[in-house]
Amino acid sequence: MPASLPLVFTAPRRGRPPTHLADLDSEERRAAVRATGQPEFRAKQLAQHYFAGLTRDPADMTDLPAAGRTAFVDALLPELLTEVRSLACDDGSTRKTLWRAHDGTLIESVLMRYPDRITLCVSSQAGCGMACPFCATGQGGLQRNLSAGEIVEQVRLAARMARGGALGPPGRLSNVVFMGMGEPLANYNRVLSAVRAIIAAPPAGFGISARSVTVSTVGLVPAIRRLTAEKLQVRLAVSLHTPDDELRDTLVPVNERWKVAEVLAAAREYADTTGRRVSIEYALIRDINDQPWRADLLGSLLREHLGPLVHVNLIPLNPTPGSKWDASPRPVQDEFVRRVRAQGVACTVRDTRGQEIAAACGQLATEGAAPA
Ligand code: SAH
Repeated sequence: MPASLPLVFTAPRRGRPPTHLADLDSEERRAAVRATGQPEFRAKQLAQHYFAGLTRDPADMTDLPAAGRTAFVDALLPELLTEVRSLACDDGSTRKTLWRAHDGTLIESVLMRYPDRITLCVSSQAGCGMACPFCATGQGGLQRNLSAGEIVEQVRLAARMARGGALGPPGRLSNVVFMGMGEPLANYNRVLSAVRAIIAAPPAGFGISARSVTVSTVGLVPAIRRLTAEKLQVRLAVSLHTPDDELRDTLVPVNERWKVAEVLAAAREYADTTGRRVSIEYALIRDINDQPWRADLLGSLLREHLGPLVHVNLIPLNPTPGSKWDASPRPVQDEFVRRVRAQGVACTVRDTRGQEIAAACGQLATEGAAPA
């Protein structure tokens, strides 16, 4: 097992990005517009351009007075991310983009086209402090939290790419999953602001259905409870990876603080409150967590805690640099699925999109990018 990294909950306070319309609630948006000397109804016009028109280009905003337009737009919709590189694979249906923030911080997001939807995997932090040994992001440590604006910009830029045909026929971004770099619930307030901007009806937000947004967590129990209290319809995903505390303490180090039973109890409250099934993420690692007895235990534990309100997503382990672990052989995987299902628990295997461009789950590390 690789040497363990410390858990980091508090991001270093540095590189605070400029304030963006998407960092603000509706009252704050109007106040920010007033502060520039413009009438507050322009907040709605700007939001319309940004969330519905997917633009921050003053040239597109002919309903704003030409005099001072650029300065006004730059003040409220500052450029937060610039594209460094974009790579496609899976016949063009998967695209990973590397972005540089104002302070040189690098992050990645991954856009995926499926027959029935277009999904964006967003980063919520630059790096991650959760130190999971099989995840490339976790092995790189935490650089900083992303602002709500930086998260929302990933969504806008992806929605533009999808609309512009970057993944094949032009389409509408329909789903957002917080499964990129970072632990979203360790950056709670900014992630929640971003979620609100993603799901709010235009012009306040992009108008993506809450049910099509997934927040994934290693299991930060107090933050799961906070999310429950928000009473949103977003899906909760819990990265469990094993049903027993002994192994989970090493695979997901935060388990030393919140044990499997506590995490599943919090997940149950979420499911009961929202009526939504919780998704359990399980990266299947050869000879580590793929034994038949673990499948039985996983199935019985989930049945007991969540009954029908759960779905297991198995992820064949994606290779990461420096790790000697690999995915389980196919027959082992098939037997694992069979045993979980035999306990009455829904279980499917996730496709391993983006592997060849290091865009798959756990592979985001901004590797090979020259620092700013
Ligand atoms: N920190 C959050 C959000 C990241 S989601 C979380 O862990 O849930 C990324 C998902 O990919 C998580 O379920 C994570 O456990 C999984 N993952 C990480 N490394 C992986 C790898 N090498 N192969 C497959 N899945 C991996």
